[in-house]
Amino acid sequence: MTRDTQPTHVQADAAETSRVNLLGLSREQLRTFFAELGEKPFRATQVMKWIHQEGVDSFADMTNLSKALRAKLEQRAEVRAPGVVYEGDSKDGTRKWVLEVEDGSYVETVLIPSENGHRRTLCVSSQVGCTLDCSFCSTGKQGYQRNLTSAEIIGQVWVAQRSAGGREGSGDGRKAVTNVVMMGMGEPLMNFDNVVSAMQLMLDDNAYGLSKRRVTLSTSGVVPRIDQLGDIMDVSLAISLHAPTDELRNTLVPLNRKYNIDTLLDACRRYLAKCDDTRMLTVEYTLIKDVNDQREHAEGLAEILADLPCKINLIPFNPFPGSGYEKPSRNQIMRFQQWLYELGYTAPIRMTRGDDIDAACGQLVGRVKDRTKRSQRYISTVQLDAG
Ligand code: SAH
Ligand code: SF4
Repeated sequence: MTRDTQPTHVQADAAETSRVNLLGLSREQLRTFFAELGEKPFRATQVMKWIHQEGVDSFADMTNLSKALRAKLEQRAEVRAPGVVYEGDSKDGTRKWVLEVEDGSYVETVLIPSENGHRRTLCVSSQVGCTLDCSFCSTGKQGYQRNLTSAEIIGQVWVAQRSAGGREGSGDGRKAVTNVVMMGMGEPLMNFDNVVSAMQLMLDDNAYGLSKRRVTLSTSGVVPRIDQLGDIMDVSLAISLHAPTDELRNTLVPLNRKYNIDTLLDACRRYLAKCDDTRMLTVEYTLIKDVNDQREHAEGLAEILADLPCKINLIPFNPFPGSGYEKPSRNQIMRFQQWLYELGYTAPIRMTRGDDIDAACGQLVGRVKDRTKRSQRYISTVQLDAG
């Protein structure tokens, strides 16, 4: 089933851009904003609740604020979310939004329900493109355009939550978004400050109130930033490992030449030590045919992870044109899983979901190359795929 929404274009006139966009401000930042207006700090929590829990983007609707304050806010501020260019449901229950951000770029966000329907995990993007150029990733192959602002990052959660009918809007009395993974387009640790502000809103009880275990940041291994993150937050951490040796990982994740596997795993140990609970690291392993799917790779993986509390997620490679890689056969994927099992690891296979709407890993906005007419082309591609 496909459902289209009218494009809601981002306003970009001078008057709009000079106002502060409150959507991306963390509680502390909002307090500072209200202090500068000469208002009491509790206004910050009131406004946060309106924006993030009620899905309100008009000050006129914030009825517990005085008329004078609402008028002041109209002049000085705005709540501006990314515009929804496309919204579509996949046959397997995955829902995808294509969002237009400030400079006319597109980002995607995908909501993936768990098999039993208890969890709804939103896969959030942090950048338009990516600088890190992993050889098997279509985002990396697109090149880098820019970092998303914190409003554009949290805006993805805001849109998903609101379109599902607000905080309690999933129809069963629970939150529409129960988990967030920073696994969409981009490397979140290369956009550190904006990603942190957005994740603070995900955790804040006056905004989305998700537990730190239910917000996961995935990184290809920006080691100094892992340490920095551990000093200020303890969300769950996932690393994109994909190989048991530096020799192989260098060919898949160029960043490995700067921060090798040992250095990366040491940073993960330090991160876990800072969490005040028994947290496990998630290790993502994209299985690519004849590249990293052999028994020696499973054995190497088990060996390097032996002293780390972790769970391994196997992701079958999602092919894209010109990648030069292939997805292993189903049998080979199962064999790899079985080898890991024999070595003491239960490694779930993250089945490709949302394939029919191009929402699978590494496919986010993967087919957009021509920037001039890409809205048009993108929409037609998605509609074709969503059939
Ligand atoms: N930049 C971060 C997060 C975004 S990528 C990172 O690299 O961790 C999210 C996950 O999708 C990563 O584990 C990445 O390795 C994986 N991925 C990227 N392209 C893929 C593809 N074509 N097939 C399968 N997994 C892919
Ligand atoms: Fe960037 Fe992650 Fe893709 Fe590598 S896998 S290019 S880090 S988005």
